[in-house]
Amino acid sequence: MDQIIFIFKGYGFEPYGNSRGSMSLHGPLCPAEYKNEKKCLCVLEEWNNHMLCPVCSKQYPLSGEMSTLMNNAHKAYKAYLRSGKKIITLDIPVSTVKAEDEDAFHKVSVVLSQKDGRKQAIIYICEREKKVGKTHIFADIDREELRYDPSDIAPGEILVKLTAEFKNAISSIQYK
Ligand SMILES: [Zn+2]
Repeated sequence: MDQIIFIFKGYGFEPYGNSRGSMSLHGPLCPAEYKNEKKCLCVLEEWNNHMLCPVCSKQYPLSGEMSTLMNNAHKAYKAYLRSGKKIITLDIPVSTVKAEDEDAFHKVSVVLSQKDGRKQAIIYICEREKKVGKTHIFADIDREELRYDPSDIAPGEILVKLTAEFKNAISSIQYK
């Protein structure tokens, strides 16, 4: 377990591992500055609808139960630990080509994909004659925005105008 103390709702909490490998918390810890401008960090005790610090004698109002505060701190810390993880969604098939078409001049593919759990359509447009390469446009459906991959050619090399109509927004880029 990391040697950290985190602050939640103004109070300190100290995560520690128990013998079964799960996480518990010491707390709530007194947030008052005590000696040498350091936080007191003593475990507060419940007393008459207040929380009391047995070391520096500071009192804190307690709205609700202390166990609810502990539970919520526990949930918030677990959510924080999760927040660093990569998000995938199994609701969207991974990189399935949904549509492909071509004529003498251009080739177009549309792939339904995901990024950080957000649904997006990736549109590849290739100019066949000039062999300038492909442009690589993202229609981010969840964020309702259009982007392109700058490592490929800019959409303006092939397109004059790019418009995506999302549920709540229309994103349009005029190139010429
Ligand atoms: Zn204290």
